[in-house]
Amino acid sequence: MVTMQAMVLDALRTPLAMRERPVPAPGPGEILISVTACGVCRTDLHVVDGELPHPKLPLVPGHEVVGRVAAIGAGVSEFALRERVGVPWLGATCGSCPYCRADTENLCDVPVFTGYTRDGGYATHTVADARYCFPLGEHGDDAEIAPWLCAGLIGWRSYRMAGAAQTLGLYGFGAAAHILAQMACWQGRRVFAFTRTGDTAAQDFARSLGAVWAGASDQAPPEPLDAAIIFAAVGALVPAALKAVKKGGRVVCGGIHMSDIPSFPYSLLWEERHVMSVANLTRADAREFLELAPKAGVECEVTRYPLACANEALTDMRESRLQGAAVLIP
Ligand SMILES: [Zn+2]
Ligand SMILES: [Zn+2]
Repeated sequence: MVTMQAMVLDALRTPLAMRERPVPAPGPGEILISVTACGVCRTDLHVVDGELPHPKLPLVPGHEVVGRVAAIGAGVSEFALRERVGVPWLGATCGSCPYCRADTENLCDVPVFTGYTRDGGYATHTVADARYCFPLGEHGDDAEIAPWLCAGLIGWRSYRMAGAAQTLGLYGFGAAAHILAQMACWQGRRVFAFTRTGDTAAQDFARSLGAVWAGASDQAPPEPLDAAIIFAAVGALVPAALKAVKKGGRVVCGGIHMSDIPSFPYSLLWEERHVMSVANLTRADAREFLELAPKAGVECEVTRYPLACANEALTDMRESRLQGAAVLIP
């Protein structure tokens, strides 16, 4: 029997355990992927910590998967053996609900999510629905591309929702913001980075990636912003960002989970300011981002961990000890 290794979550709020399993065979429409890198996303923390409802258990987390096609299921024609592919958070959609039919498959009524409701990439192998995987070409390092598959894609959807903002605030300067800052600067936008109070390392990091200003999230930016995107899971940032945007400005919440938003005076929302969330991604978002990111010369700062050290990677993320993104290498 050919076996694979996986880091498995057996029960919520417990450490992942390394397990040996038979390598699965891809079913119709699926591909088997030999994983070469898998990014660690904040959403993985929310899953492990039980902050998202009804995860598959036991579960292999991980939805920023880069690997090589190792076997092809019946009916798959879009990928070749050994081709480099990426697997994102959106694992499958139904194609027939009102949201799918309205080109908003990110809001599908019965979605499948990689590393949440189906097994993901904290493993040497994983199986994915080929229709939701993306060819990655041969340019770039696997570990440095892995964070594109969620931090990049969902950051990009958030950015599009923020509109044509010339002055853009990014609250929480982790994996998503460090990619998006590079894209936004490349497009001539002016980026203002907000971090935890006193996190001068993150502020220096933001400036090194092109931010025109970096400061603490309770500080006012030096000029009013057209829009702000909140990547940190902190509800108190919503009124803070509303305060920072000008009339008609948008505040986009890019995370899947956030602490409660404190009450705030209506005057912060008045004058046609908007607050909205961004959920998941569509394949169209992904194709657009994956085409533009290489042109923008996006480079990810990554910290590599052996697959067996997934728990350490999660802890480092929980304690904000990371600059950029954590990536597991099987
Ligand atoms: Zn649907
Ligand atoms: Zn993610």
